[in-house]
Amino acid sequence: MIIVQKFGGTSLSDEYSRQHVLRHIRREKAEGHRLVVVVSAMGRRGEPYATDTLLDWIAQNGNSLPDREKDLLLSCGELISAATLCSLLNREGIPAVALTGGQAGIRTDARFGFARIVDVNSARILEYLEEDKVVVVAGFQGATEDGEVTTLGRGGSDTSATALGAALPAGIVDIYTDVDGILTADPRMVSEARPLAMVSYEEICNMAYNGAKVIHPRAVEIAMRAGVPVRVRSTFSEGLGTLVTHADSVRRQGGWTDRTVTGLAHVKGVTQLAVETDNGPSDVQLRVFRAMALSGISVDFINVTPAGVLYTVTDQDAPQAVRLLEEMRFSARVRSGCAKVSVIGGGMNGEPGVMARIVEALTAANIPILQSADSNTTIWVLVAEDDMVPALQALHAAFGLHLAPTR
Ligand code: ADP
Ligand code: MG
Repeated sequence: MIIVQKFGGTSLSDEYSRQHVLRHIRREKAEGHRLVVVVSAMGRRGEPYATDTLLDWIAQNGNSLPDREKDLLLSCGELISAATLCSLLNREGIPAVALTGGQAGIRTDARFGFARIVDVNSARILEYLEEDKVVVVAGFQGATEDGEVTTLGRGGSDTSATALGAALPAGIVDIYTDVDGILTADPRMVSEARPLAMVSYEEICNMAYNGAKVIHPRAVEIAMRAGVPVRVRSTFSEGLGTLVTHADSVRRQGGWTDRTVTGLAHVKGVTQLAVETDNGPSDVQLRVFRAMALSGISVDFINVTPAGVLYTVTDQDAPQAVRLLEEMRFSARVRSGCAKVSVIGGGMNGEPGVMARIVEALTAANIPILQSADSNTTIWVLVAEDDMVPALQALHAAFGLHLAPTR
């Protein structure tokens, strides 16, 4: 079977981690599998070759580097990782070859900095696999038809891995990271968070879209479309982590797809805007949202009432959003430093009283809900950023997620 393994930044940052990486490669090789290994840049912000370090480096010159050249620089972190891993494998007597994203056949459009994959030609990888080589691919990058180097944006290496997994196709895509799998919440916020043994593509996609950065939502979508199973697992243990697959396959394997609450996710850095007016709500709604859309500002938590409109934007977009409102002579109340907390569950639909339990838990913890919204699989609440961690902890306890059977 072909396996795609993806190792994130923290899995490659030092000699100790890289020994664990080698262990996973050796083990799967010994099982007779053919391996494509996608690597991220080493380490996190501050470490020499991390993507954020490279970004900070460019920012020192007042961000004067054009997007095309920025992508050339940003793609280097993954190339260093790929070459490093290739050398370690060869030293161990495991034949390996390193490829850029473009060389690996990942074709993208030309939107530098956030390019989309348009096509994957896996012929070259398949040739190397035939020669029994481990193919190490620099993640987070591709190339346009003209050979211009592009990067895929945040979480791009996850996307590289599932796109290759879908194209080859691979039997499984293993996303190795610094946690034991997909947990019921971010363990940095909720220490009681528990790993889930199996989740459906839809559930994890939903968690990822709502901020769970353990895997990128676009990566999940690509895997889902191709039906390639994904495992999110720890570089530093032998645990199998979380299997992500189709809901019916989860059910066949005895897993749950109808949990009322699967997990929690969060996004910080949200600004709430309340626009009040006498002009009648429809006019405000139209003008406000048209102005936001024209400026490319995405809005969330939209709430239209006879008194005006209430919505949120990112803290980054807030100054521009406020300026636009002022230009239209609307008076707005601005509350920055908010956080969106999402309660996600495939079986929430039709289950009565979920919202009541959320309100009850947050009220008991003295946390004001600034706004809320819901869909059939998610309830969102907006809280002050200072209340975010206590809110996550209160909700985690209220839904018994620390006790939840992990299947
Ligand atoms: P990598 O460098 O391996 O891509 P990331 O930092 O992108 O790693 O993703 C792993 C991190 O995601 C974890 O360290 C954890 O803090 C965070 N995370 C957020 N939500 C979750 C969740 N529900 N389950 C597991 N990890 C989560
Ligand atoms: Mg990541």
